[in-house]
Amino acid sequence: MNNKTNILVVEDDRQIRKLMSTTLSANGYSIECTNDGGQAIMALSTKSFDIVLLDLGLPDMDGVTVIKKIREWSNIPIIVVSARDEDSDKISALDNGADDYLTKPFSIEELMARIRVAQRRLSNISEAGDSVFKNGDLVVDYPAGTAYLKGEELSLTPIEYKLLTLLSRNAGKVLTYTYITDKIWGNSIDSDVASLRVFMASLRKKIEKDTAHPEYIQTHIGTGYRMILVKK
Ligand code: CA
Repeated sequence: MNNKTNILVVEDDRQIRKLMSTTLSANGYSIECTNDGGQAIMALSTKSFDIVLLDLGLPDMDGVTVIKKIREWSNIPIIVVSARDEDSDKISALDNGADDYLTKPFSIEELMARIRVAQRRLSNISEAGDSVFKNGDLVVDYPAGTAYLKGEELSLTPIEYKLLTLLSRNAGKVLTYTYITDKIWGNSIDSDVASLRVFMASLRKKIEKDTAHPEYIQTHIGTGYRMILVKK
């Protein structure tokens, strides 16, 4: 296989590192491993990678610090793979620019699925030279300020449109409540999260076939929302 996806695994647990590197290599990915944050930043600044799998509890620095440093210069998809299942850690990682999170223990199928999502975001970014977002039957024409479903123009309120734009521009990425309310209302007080739910419900009614089983916007309970890149 040419053009293999290069994955950097940052993990200090040798067994998990070995498991990831063996399975991912067997599935056609090119893998490099580092066991601390300093090495990871060094590797990323000297070589070219497509995706980072990052443990949060590292021997030399906190994984969130690693994310902040990477985000100073790179937009590479970062999937946090963490043993900590507290929401605050996940949210802090996402707020600082991680794309997604996976809690240990995880299944290899789950890991592979998350990598495929990150890869789709990657190809979406490289295609996004044009200013029209296409995802399944959904189209957002940013310069025109309009959105379409199955070719029919959607009648959206300004907030619904802003919400759809924010999610589509970050498609594939989990956006936290704080991130979204801050972008939409310029602050993030608790009542905004309640308003966000209301606007999200009305947006979903307009774009989802079945709001109980949304196809485009996924809910991450206690965390936020993600626009799913629908398979073509
Ligand atoms: Ca660790």
